[in-house]
Amino acid sequence: MPHFLDVILPLPLPGCFTYILPQKWEGQVQPGCRVMVPFGRKKVYTAIVQRVHADAPVGYEVKEIADLLDTRPVLLPVQLHFWEWLADYYLCTPGDVYKAALPASMKPKGEIDAPTKTVKRRKKHADADNVESWEMPTNGNDRLNPLNEHQQQAYSDIRAAFIQKNVCLLHGVTSSGKTEIYIHLIYETLKQGKQVLYLLPEIALTTQITERLHRVFGTRLGIYHSKFSDNERMDVWQKQLSDAPFDIILGVRSSIFLPFSDLGLVIVDEEHENTYKQQDPAPRYHARNAAIVLASMYHAKVLLGTATPSVESWYNATTGKYALVELKERYQEIQLPEIIPVDIKELQHKKRMNGAFSPLLLRYIHEALDQKEQVILFQNRRGFAPMIECNTCGWVPKCKNCDVSLTYHKGLNQLTCHYCGYTYQLPRRCPACEGSDLCNRGFGTERIEDEVATLFPQARIARMDLDTTRTRTAYERIIDYFTKGKTDILIGTQMVSKGLDFDHVSVVGILNADTMMNFPDFRAYERAFQLMAQVAGRAGRKNKRGRVVLQTKSIDHPIIGQVMRNDYEQMVADQLAERQLFRYPPYYRLVYVYLKHRNEVQLELMANVMAQRLTELFDNRVLGPDKPPVARIQTLFIRKIVVKIEQHGSMVDARRLLRRVQQEMLADDRFKSLMVYYDVDPVG
Ligand SMILES: [Zn+2]
Ligand SMILES: [Zn+2]
Repeated sequence: MPHFLDVILPLPLPGCFTYILPQKWEGQVQPGCRVMVPFGRKKVYTAIVQRVHADAPVGYEVKEIADLLDTRPVLLPVQLHFWEWLADYYLCTPGDVYKAALPASMKPKGEIDAPTKTVKRRKKHADADNVESWEMPTNGNDRLNPLNEHQQQAYSDIRAAFIQKNVCLLHGVTSSGKTEIYIHLIYETLKQGKQVLYLLPEIALTTQITERLHRVFGTRLGIYHSKFSDNERMDVWQKQLSDAPFDIILGVRSSIFLPFSDLGLVIVDEEHENTYKQQDPAPRYHARNAAIVLASMYHAKVLLGTATPSVESWYNATTGKYALVELKERYQEIQLPEIIPVDIKELQHKKRMNGAFSPLLLRYIHEALDQKEQVILFQNRRGFAPMIECNTCGWVPKCKNCDVSLTYHKGLNQLTCHYCGYTYQLPRRCPACEGSDLCNRGFGTERIEDEVATLFPQARIARMDLDTTRTRTAYERIIDYFTKGKTDILIGTQMVSKGLDFDHVSVVGILNADTMMNFPDFRAYERAFQLMAQVAGRAGRKNKRGRVVLQTKSIDHPIIGQVMRNDYEQMVADQLAERQLFRYPPYYRLVYVYLKHRNEVQLELMANVMAQRLTELFDNRVLGPDKPPVARIQTLFIRKIVVKIEQHGSMVDARRLLRRVQQEMLADDRFKSLMVYYDVDPVG
C-alpha cells in the first residue's frame, strides 16, 4: 500500500499538499522531516512533513517527493503543534509560519533537473558540537551573585506564585536588578534538568546580557538572533536537536521557533516592547503572547519582566490571570532621576532654542562633560531630516511608490523612503517652482549628531539607530565603547531606551516628546510613557542622582506629569478607563483586516463589499473601511477594516467567519487580484 505525505510548503498558500512517498523510503519518514518536492511545472521546494498516511487524495494527480533530506525530524511534535496554533490564531498560512521559523539554509529550493545542486546535506549532528556560542573556556557556575534583600523577596514571591499560576509579571523599577533575579531562576530551572528560553526585544541587549549569563552558565548558553549568519543559526537549531542541546537560549523573538526538548521556564524581558510584534510579513505574531502559548505546551512557567508593563499584562496581572510581583527599590539604592520638563513651544517663540536644544539641556550636557560623565540623547526619528520642503512654494518630495514624504539622509546624500526603502537623488532645485531654497524640516538622529558635533567639538559622539547598526560588530562596538567610557554622548532612537545598563550616565535628554504622543494609535500615550520612563531610567549613578531634560510643546499633558512623577499606576488607570470607554484592548480584541490593490477605485469597491459582508456577520463590531495613515505602500493602495471582539467572545468563531468572508471575496471574479491579510492583536 502506498504511503502519502501531507507537507507544508514555504509558500503563502492555505492548507497542506499531498505527495507520494516512493517505496525506497518507506518507513524512513516522520512528521517534522524535510523532503524535497516538485511544485508547479518547474520548481522544487523543501517541504516539512506534517503527516504520514495511507489515504489517497481524490481529484488530482499526486506527485512523488523528489528527495528525503532527514532521517530524523528537524521539528519536534510540539513545534509542529505550535506552528498550527500560530497559523490559526494569527490568520495566516502554515507556509508563512514555516518561512519565518526555519533559517534559510535549512530550506533550499531550486529548479527541476538541478535540485541536488542547491541542496546541501548537513553532516547529521556532527557539527553541532562545535558550535561557537561564546568563546570562553569556562563552564560557569562560579560567579552566582547573592541577591540583596529586595531581590531575594521578589525571587521568593515569584517561586511561590509559580505554584499557583503559570505566568508571573515582575514589575520592577529600572535598575532594580531584575537580571540577577532571572539568573537565580534560570539556575533553579537548570537544576531540575529543564531548559530556559530568555527573550529580549533588541539584539543590542543580548550583547550586554550575554556576558553576564556566560559568567554563570558558561557553554550551556546559546545565542540566537538575526544578526547571526544563516549557517550559525542552523548550527544552533541542529544543536537543539542533538543529545547535548543548549540549556539556555538567549535571543530575540524568532528564538521561540527553536526546538526545545524540555522547556521549563520562559523569561520575556522588557515585555512591554513593541518589537516583540512582527509587523511584516506574516506571521504577524507577538512573541510574548506566542511564548506564553508555547510554554503552556511544555507545562513551563513564564516570567514577564519590565519597569513599565504593557497595559494588557498589567490588566492580566491585576485581575488574577497572571501573578504580580513588584520590586520598587533600585539596585544599590541609586535614586530615580529628577525629570525636568522644558516648554519648547515658548522657547521657540522667544527664539531661545539652539536647533533642537533648550538652554537648560545644553547647560546640563556641559556640566556632565566637565565632570567626565556621560550623556544620552533620545530622538525617535532616524535620518537627518524627516522631511524636505521648498521654502518658496511648499513642495515636499514624496515616494513614488508610497504615500509618504521622504527622509533626507545627509551621510548618503539621498532621500529615502522608510516604507519601501526606495532611494532618490536630492534635487538641486524644486521641480515645481525651480526655486533653489530647499530646507530641512524636523530633526532626525543624524541631524542631532551634526548639531552636537558643532556644539561640543571636544566630545566623543556615537549614534545608535537602524542606520548605524546594520552589522553585528557595529552594534557591539557602539555599546562596548559607551560602556567603557570611550564615548561621551550617545544619540539614539528607541534603541537606547531598551533596558541597556550603563554606569556613568548623569544626563538624559528627551528631545521631543510630542512626536510620540501625537502618533495616531490608541496605544500612543502608553507607548510614549514607556519610552520616556525607560530612557529616563538610563540616568543615575551610584551616589549621584541623574537628571532628565524632557523637551515638549505639550507641557500640561497628563502623560508628561506621569513621566515626571514616575507614576505608572496613574498612567495605566487612565489608559484602562479610556480603553474601556472606546472599546479597545484589553477589554476588546482587535483584528485589523487589510486589503491591498493596485487600482484605488476597485479597491474602494472591494473594501466596501467586504465591510458590508462583515457587518452582516459581526454587526456593530466592524469599523471602516478606512484609509490607514499611510494609504499606499510599494505601489499598492491600502484600506483597513477593524473588527472588535469582546474579551469573552469566541475568537475561534470570529476567525472562522473572517476566513469564510475572505474565501467568498476571493471566489468572486471581480476581486481576483485582491490581497487580503490580517493583523490579529495589532500593536502600533
Ligand atoms: Zn518650489
Ligand atoms: Zn516608498
